[in-house]
Amino acid sequence: MKPVQITTIKMKNFKLFSNSNKRLYSKCKTNSYDVLVVGGGIVGFATARALISRNKHLHVGLVEKENRPSVHQSGHNSGVIHAGIYYKPGTMRAKMCIEGLYKTYEYCAKNNIPHKKCGKLIVATNESQIKSLNDLYERGLENGTPDIKLINGNDIKTIEPYCNGVRAIHSPHTGIVDWAVVTKHYAADFVNLGGQITYNFKVKSFEEYKHNRALRIISEKNVLLL
Ligand SMILES: Cc1cc2nc3c(=O)[nH]c(=O)nc-3n(C[C@H](O)[C@H](O)[C@H](O)COP(=O)(O)OP(=O)(O)OC[C@H]3O[C@@H](n4cnc5c(N)ncnc54)[C@H](O)[C@@H]3O)c2cc1C
Repeated sequence: MKPVQITTIKMKNFKLFSNSNKRLYSKCKTNSYDVLVVGGGIVGFATARALISRNKHLHVGLVEKENRPSVHQSGHNSGVIHAGIYYKPGTMRAKMCIEGLYKTYEYCAKNNIPHKKCGKLIVATNESQIKSLNDLYERGLENGTPDIKLINGNDIKTIEPYCNGVRAIHSPHTGIVDWAVVTKHYAADFVNLGGQITYNFKVKSFEEYKHNRALRIISEKNVLLL
């Protein structure tokens, strides 16, 4: 993968401010960042971790309005490690979903994160759904989803005895993981690489200053910054 391009913001000096403590924070060197990521869900932590691991000298911070990672969507999803069947072929999403599949298994194994490559069945429960299922299968093939197969009703039973269907796509590499746990590991990696996390910091606004060469990030309330 190409390194993250940060050329436009790298030269700027981001400062973290709380309205009532401007003076204190403006003098506090540790609260000055090259890049500040807002939001501590999986996207925020993955981004912050990637930035700092590829740019060792970059001073990266992350602010999150809650008191811990993945309180919102990243902690409330179906926990599927997708294998890239659904996305439109040729899109970045389709490509990255399959890259992400392999990287997720690798990362989980390396970090002892509980996960399971249980496979998935996408099932046509009656004849009228077969055309859509076949189209989806073609899409999966085009995307390069590994080892997918079209199977009939009897084969469905050998994989999942409680499932009734006339035809199905079997995706053996689809799996499950608790993405909130993955996010927490990303957060720990980020800190170990020198990143700084500030929880309970709800970004309210951004203000340019120093003749637009720096940016203040304003929170709603007072936050103690370390
Ligand atoms: C029903 C459902 C099921 C899904 N199932 C799957 C699945 O099985 N597999 C899969 O890979 N994906 C799944 N997804 C998608 C996946 O959950 C999301 O793509 C992912 O969690 C998005 O992460 P995020 O970091 O962008 O968002 P979030 O996890 O919501 O993180 C955003 C963070 O920003 C913080 N924030 C917001 N505003 C501010 C502010 N002003 N200041 C500071 N912090 C702020 C929030 O507190 C939050 O922590 C599912 C989605 C849905 C809706």
